[in-house]
Amino acid sequence: MSNQDAIDWRTPIQPAEITWYGDIPISRQFDEGYFSDTDPILEASVTYIQANRLGERFRSNQQVTIAELGFGFGLNFLLTAQLWQRTAPERSWLDYIAFELHPVTIIDLQKAYSHWPQLSVLGEELLASLPLPVPGYHLVSFEALRIRCLLVYGDARHYLPQLQAQIDCWFLDAFSPKRNFELWQPEIFSQISRLSHRHSTLSTYSVARTVKDGITAAGFHYRLLSATGRKRQRLVADGTEALAPKRKDSVKQSTAIIGSGVAGLCLARELQFRGYEVTLFDTAKTVGSGASGAPVAVVRPWLSKDLNLDAQWSLLCYLTALKYWSRSSRGSDRLLGQPLILRKKEGQDFRELLHNFPALRYLASLVREAITTQQMNLKTDQEDLCFPFGGWIHPRRLAHELFTELEEKCTFHFDHQLTQLIAVDSHWACQFKQKNERIFDQVIIANATGISQLKQTVQIPVQSIAGQINQISALPKENLQNGICQPGFLLPGNTNSWHLGATFEPDTLSVSQATEQLNTQFRKLFPDCDHSVIFEMQSYWRNARACTLDHLPLVGAAPNYYENTNISSGRGTKSTLADLTVHPNLYLFSGFGSRGFTTIPASANFLASLIDHTVSPWPKRLSERVNPGRFLLRQQQKR
Ligand SMILES: Cc1cc2nc3c(=O)[nH]c(=O)nc-3n(C[C@H](O)[C@H](O)[C@H](O)COP(=O)(O)OP(=O)(O)OC[C@H]3O[C@@H](n4cnc5c(N)ncnc54)[C@H](O)[C@@H]3O)c2cc1C
Repeated sequence: MSNQDAIDWRTPIQPAEITWYGDIPISRQFDEGYFSDTDPILEASVTYIQANRLGERFRSNQQVTIAELGFGFGLNFLLTAQLWQRTAPERSWLDYIAFELHPVTIIDLQKAYSHWPQLSVLGEELLASLPLPVPGYHLVSFEALRIRCLLVYGDARHYLPQLQAQIDCWFLDAFSPKRNFELWQPEIFSQISRLSHRHSTLSTYSVARTVKDGITAAGFHYRLLSATGRKRQRLVADGTEALAPKRKDSVKQSTAIIGSGVAGLCLARELQFRGYEVTLFDTAKTVGSGASGAPVAVVRPWLSKDLNLDAQWSLLCYLTALKYWSRSSRGSDRLLGQPLILRKKEGQDFRELLHNFPALRYLASLVREAITTQQMNLKTDQEDLCFPFGGWIHPRRLAHELFTELEEKCTFHFDHQLTQLIAVDSHWACQFKQKNERIFDQVIIANATGISQLKQTVQIPVQSIAGQINQISALPKENLQNGICQPGFLLPGNTNSWHLGATFEPDTLSVSQATEQLNTQFRKLFPDCDHSVIFEMQSYWRNARACTLDHLPLVGAAPNYYENTNISSGRGTKSTLADLTVHPNLYLFSGFGSRGFTTIPASANFLASLIDHTVSPWPKRLSERVNPGRFLLRQQQKR
């Protein structure tokens, strides 16, 4: 594993190997039981729930963050969720972060849950929401319960240092120091110290010398208490003055989102769940008037040969998008259910990619003579890549579904074009072309290509690139089930129609020029196809996407170009993104280019957590890739 990797795709996740002795699961990897053979629920309640005084914390805090080392069967999570359900005040939120090297399989989880009828409803919910067993950060939301669970699969020694959060309570529930030496090392305790505050608490069943020493070095004061079940003693610890002060809870400020495309809608959804009053403004008369009104769109990660940080970020976004869009699509209308085939392009070697990053095999497999190409009587002797989970979506429909969901929860103002933003004390005055003005505590610019029209953001390099998608009615064979892409895409539409897309036009083309380009693209997509067949264009759709120079979006605080370049204090060397001055309470959520439907759901989650000062669903190295200050920083570093 390279230390530069945010997510380790070289090491596949190995599931927990378990032998059952009656009701007790024993790990073959660690040669130790997961829990006590007397009363696991009582033992976990006493050792973790009561020890951290969770009931009291839940009743008196707007937001609580718990971290667990060793998720195992999720018993501590289920007990925490049960107590949360009973005691937490309305509008409060629980963030639960759990690290697991060997996730327990669904079959073993089901077996354990069958012994815990009092937790069966929550257990079912957890089973239904578990992520795919691939490495990295997985955000699982239990919206009705107001719980966000960040499950991190892989080695905690790699992932804990990248976590961006402040933890109120720690559950140290890994296997014992004798069996799982790695998770009780000084490097782990120094991370616990970094992530804790003076009022954090910590508990564990282990009272080994190394544990007591580690906890003391981390800035905690511990006590030993009598235990239940298999142990005589357990350990409880409180944060001391040596730790950082507790961050203040965020104030739920009035929030304006400029732009009601899929970006604005997804972000509005996240923020209103977190208790913000959200108002959306859009120049258009309805949602989906911009690029988000596309009839179809591909959802997939983009994979460089070395699976660099950008590829790792796209995989993280892809995993979120799969869940997000499946949830949004109603009933049996599962938009992401069909496999997507990615044609190999010159210089690409998918076999080598899967060999070097075997953890990818869960998400993608090699396909020679792809099913789709067989169905279409096409020959291929190349190795393409198949994403069995898909996919593609129908954005226009999803944008309207999101709008219907949010219509009552947020305020929408259509026919409102923002022309100017003026800082007034600690607020923003939004001025509209329609000659009215509204004041908000914070503003998020989610207006895609419109970003270049504002004084505060005009210097950010965003380009508007037009594109076209054609709906066609006939194919060589009419039973195409899968989507195919690269170059462009061919995706099934409604009955007997397909969508051929999309052009990428730095210099805008006419409809017929774009159609010619799409047909050329089709011939490359299917080189062996009978090209005498004429594809009749039924309709076309044109729009523009907002593209940045590095094809990554702008997600985060808006950098203040004027202060960073003109004011004397701004002239010093800026070596990191954190050195840049930003506009207070002004955020950017734009530049999603041609990949918005893969990247917007995860990015909305990330930006909402940044605004709300809660757990970041992304490792630091990945969130820096999309920081809107990166172009300014590069510009300054060149001087
Ligand atoms: C031809 C084409 C094909 C594409 N194919 C894919 C694909 O296969 N997969 C994929 O993931 N992505 C694809 N995309 C990209 C995808 O459509 C975008 O990434 C995504 O829609 C961006 O969403 P958005 O909300 O940022 O932008 P938009 O949907 O454009 O929304 C921006 C909104 O801001 C409003 N606005 C602008 N200025 C102002 C202002 N001053 N005041 C108020 N409101 C304002 C606009 O009216 C608009 O409604 C494609 C795009 C195009 C054009």
